[in-house]
Formats: sequence, structure tokens, C-alpha cells
Amino acid sequence: MSRRVIVRGHSSTHTGLCQWPAEYHAAMPSSPHRVTAIAGDGVGPEVVASAVRIIEAAGVAIEWEWADAGAEVFRRGDSSGVPRETRDSIERTRVVLKGPLETPVGLGEKSANVTLRKLFETYANVRPARELPGVPTRYAGEGVDMIVVRENIEDLYAGIEHMLAPDVAQCLKVITRKGSEKVIRYAFELARREGRRKVTCATKANIMKLTDGLFKRVFEELAEEYAVEAIEAEHLIIDNVAHQFAKAPAQFDIVVTTNLNGDIISDLASGLVGGLGFASSGNYGDDVAIFEAVHGSAPKYAGKDVINPTALILSSVMMLRHIDEAAAADTVEAAVLTTLESGTVVTADLARQTGSDIEHAASTSAFTDAVIANLGRSPAATPARAVRPTGPAPAPHPRRSYAPEVYAGIERGLAGLDVVVESDLAADALGAEFESLAGERFRVEFVEARGTVVYPATGLASDTVRAFRARLVASDGTVLGEEDLVSLLGRVSERLRWSEAIRLQVLDGEPAYTKAQGQ
Ligand code: NAP
Repeated sequence: MSRRVIVRGHSSTHTGLCQWPAEYHAAMPSSPHRVTAIAGDGVGPEVVASAVRIIEAAGVAIEWEWADAGAEVFRRGDSSGVPRETRDSIERTRVVLKGPLETPVGLGEKSANVTLRKLFETYANVRPARELPGVPTRYAGEGVDMIVVRENIEDLYAGIEHMLAPDVAQCLKVITRKGSEKVIRYAFELARREGRRKVTCATKANIMKLTDGLFKRVFEELAEEYAVEAIEAEHLIIDNVAHQFAKAPAQFDIVVTTNLNGDIISDLASGLVGGLGFASSGNYGDDVAIFEAVHGSAPKYAGKDVINPTALILSSVMMLRHIDEAAAADTVEAAVLTTLESGTVVTADLARQTGSDIEHAASTSAFTDAVIANLGRSPAATPARAVRPTGPAPAPHPRRSYAPEVYAGIERGLAGLDVVVESDLAADALGAEFESLAGERFRVEFVEARGTVVYPATGLASDTVRAFRARLVASDGTVLGEEDLVSLLGRVSERLRWSEAIRLQVLDGEPAYTKAQGQ
């Protein structure tokens, strides 16, 4: 019931290459859904083809706009990995079903996946992990049924990295109140819509007090708002979440967390219910949603017709719900569960887990055929989950205004300057150098290496590297102005090689910076 349009990344025109006969189009419903389909790299084309075949067999009218992204695009010299034509298609359709995209590791281009998520501000990455029939795990029978909601834009994935000195690298972790509020509100709304009872916030706020601390504070504010819905809200430190996932995963319902934490614990969650072959996901923004498997391009299996397509099929079920094809979503999901429950069509990853005969494991296409054959059937022993909204969702509204006048009202002061320098000097000698640069208006609070104070001497045997951060604060009785910071930095640059300088602000009377370790 679907029609195909191919959008080629290296051409500036859209070629409407329809692969279906003219009479077919005449029979098409007048307004099919439009979805951008990205086959992706490695095993991507196989799993996307599987999901598309099943959706077509389920009778959903979709006009697919086939578009490029990933390795081939990088090879053509487009360093974004997401060509203009693909972006245009997504702007038109607002819905994407995609295969995994290969990312160059280490040096080189940025991840095309992350680019896609950021370009379209899909701030909530939703990754369900539910016990599946016919998929034996250590936790079978415990009723694991959770959703990890991962913040998808910020954190270390802001991708802001610098070499502070040769051999000293730094990655900035960016957390904002607005970004946190959007994803945390999404998590509470999801709990409300699905009738779930608990939202767990997972952070490392005990260590990262300003960044993860902000995420935790926003969670606590929103928890008060949702308390009237009788949704339990708890905060756990992320390492304990990992521990609890391994020990008693059924206690979790919805877990909302920052980007890197979410990346890691959602893979862990998928491991609890059978592995990456079963892990689906949706990236939701206010305007665009992108559906993809959690797994990557698994290059060693590419083109072999052996990969488990369940993850992408279940991601396409999320997509069908998103485009208001709830009945078709239920039908496809039931067919997948029926196929798994039957235990007769077992892909190689599952065969390895169950110790069954890998030689006779089902191919990707045979599994797809089996799901299609099961459309219309329901699993005998797996209850359907109520995933449709249980009531009207209120329009998302910010808890607090982010308008310029709010920020204009904040009282600001200057406490000093943090300066990062590259130096061969020993800690004492470098400290003395900064003392001589401080002048009358500053005093040296400390010099640290890798976050640990090395000057004034602490008596600890801290190892040092070539990068140091000195904190110079206002000497007693001094009220600092911008000109003091500029003048200090000028003096530093005459004698030392500096790579970063950060003004120390006081916002509404509170220091907007943390102490150093050992301070
Ligand atoms: P991966 O592609 O997810 O594969 C890791 C392993 O997971 C595979 O070797 C295989 O395990 C198992 N696996 C993955 N998908 C499976 C499936 N559908 N069925 C059964 N088993 C499956 O991770 P990777 O090797 O680290 O990454 C490869 C490339 O993908 C990288 O370039 C990475 O950047 C990219 N990537 C893309 C995305 C995305 O597009 N969203 C996400 C993650 C990674 P066994 O070896 O045990 O069989």
C-alpha cells in the first residue's frame, strides 16, 4: 500500500522514481502518510527493508521518501553525513525511519546520527526494554518493562572538545535548564499517557554539582507538578542505577537521564531483555520524530541476511503509533510477539543465547516472512500493553519563562578568573609565577592539575601533566570589573602559554563555579 520516492543526496533535484505501476497509484488513498526512509549503513538496508515490507503488508498507506545519510555521504565529501536533500525531505515529512549510520571513530567527521538528532531538535530519545516472549534471559518472568528516556542533544554530546595542550584533551559537558526541562517533562508526560507509576531520575549530581545538579533540581521541581497525577518520582545516582538494573530491573518504570548516562544504561537495559537485536527507539522533538534501532551498523553481518530485524520492526511500531496508526501498530507488534512466542523462527543472535542450532537459525528475510504470516494473530501468553494516551496530553509549557527579561533581572558579580596554561614548571614554581602576575587586585586561590589542587602544596603526591588551571580571585576589599580580568589575562599571556580563560561569576549571590578537589 506504499509508494516510493527516492531523494538522492548528490542531486539538487528530487527524482520521483516510483517503482509501482500507474494503476496502483490510482488505487492509492488520497493522503498517505509521508515518511523519510534512510536505509543506512552495514545491516541498515536489510533491517529497514524488513520493517518496510511488514508495514506495507499491514496495509498502512505510506509514501516513503528514500534519502541518504552516513558513510556513503561522507565518502562523497559531505562532512556532515546528512545532505541538504535529506534535510529537506525530513522538513517535509517530519517523520523518519532509519537504519544505523556508521560513525568514524576517533579523529574525523562527527556522527551523522548525532547531527540528525540535533538538526531537528529531537530532544527525547525513548528506549523501551520489555521482557519478550520466547527470548530467555536471566530475568525472564520478573516482568521487566521499562523505558529509558535519554536527553538527546546536550551533555558531552554537545561535542565541544579542545586540546588544552599537546596530550591534554578536554570535553565540555553542557546541561541547560531548558534542555533538562524538555526531556524531563517528556518523561513525566509519557508516564501519564501510559499510566506508568514511577519516574526515576538518574544522574551523577553528587560529583557534577552544577551540570547534573541542575538536571536533578529541574526533575525535583517537575516532580512536584506531577505529584497530583500520583506519579512517584525518585532520584538515584547513575552508578546505583546500573547496580539496580543488574539486581532487580523490574523495579523500574521510566528512567530519565542525561545523554551519556542514557546511552550506556539503555544498552544495559536492552541486554536485560535479550540484547541489541530487540532494542527499539524513537527520537522525539516538538516537530520531528526519528525512529531507529538502538544497535549500530554491525558491519560484520552486512549483506549476509542473518541479522535480527526485531529492533527496527519494533521501532517502526513506535513510528506507527506516532503517525496515529495505532491499530496497525498493535497488529505489527502482536505479529512480532506471536512470532517470538512460537519459538519456531529463531534468528542467530537468539539461537546463540538459547544454545540452539545456529546452522538452522532463521535469516532476516525468513523472520520477516514469519512476522508477515502472523499479521492478524495475537500472542497467547503476552498481554498487550496499554500504550495509547489515556487522556488528552496538555500542551507542553515551560515551567519558567526563558525570556530575556528573566535573565536581565539576575544580579551578577565577578569573583575572578580561571586560566588554563601549558607549562613545564613544577607546581610550586608555577604558583609563584601566578603570585607575581596577580598584582594588587587579585590573589592566587589555587593552581590545579586535572582538578586536584597542587598549589599551595597539599602534601599529596598528585601527578601532574603539562596543563594547569590557576584560579585568581579578588584580593580582599577589591570589587572586580571587566578591565581587571582583561588586564590580568594580558599579563598572563606575556609570560605563559594560556589556552582557556573562564570568568568566575556570582549569580544572585551564589558562586557560579565549583571548588577544586582538595580545596
Ligand atoms: P553494533 O553495530 O550495534 O554491533 C555490536 C554488536 O551487537 C554486533 O556485533 C552484534 O553482536 C550485536 N548486534 C547489533 N545489532 C544486532 C542485531 N540487529 N541483531 C543481532 N545482533 C546485533 O555496534 P558497533 O559495532 O559498536 O558499531 C558499529 C557502527 O555503528 C559504528 O560505526 C557506530 O558508530 C555505529 N552506530 C550507529 C548507531 C546508530 O545509527 N544509531 C548506533 C550505534 C552505533 P555479536 O557480535 O555478539 O553478534
